[in-house]
Amino acid sequence: MNLKELEDQVRALIAQGRKVEAVKRVRETTGWGLKQSKDYVDALSEVVQEVGRNDPCPCGSGRKYKHCCGRKR
Ligand SMILES: [Zn+2]
Repeated sequence: MNLKELEDQVRALIAQGRKVEAVKRVRETTGWGLKQSKDYVDALSEVVQEVGRNDPCPCGSGRKYKHCCGRKR
């Protein structure tokens, strides 16, 4: 798996509020330490949190965030 694919998966997990799983996925994929993996996820989650409700969803589904992972439950 390349880093771009990993990034997409991590973004999707973050968008779903599954940050712990995202860190785990980074560690398994890259072999990085916990600190580096956490920093990577944190950096990506800052980007994800800037997503507006009418912007494309960060999980890569192609739908608007408000109709996808940002939908109110
Ligand atoms: Zn989504």
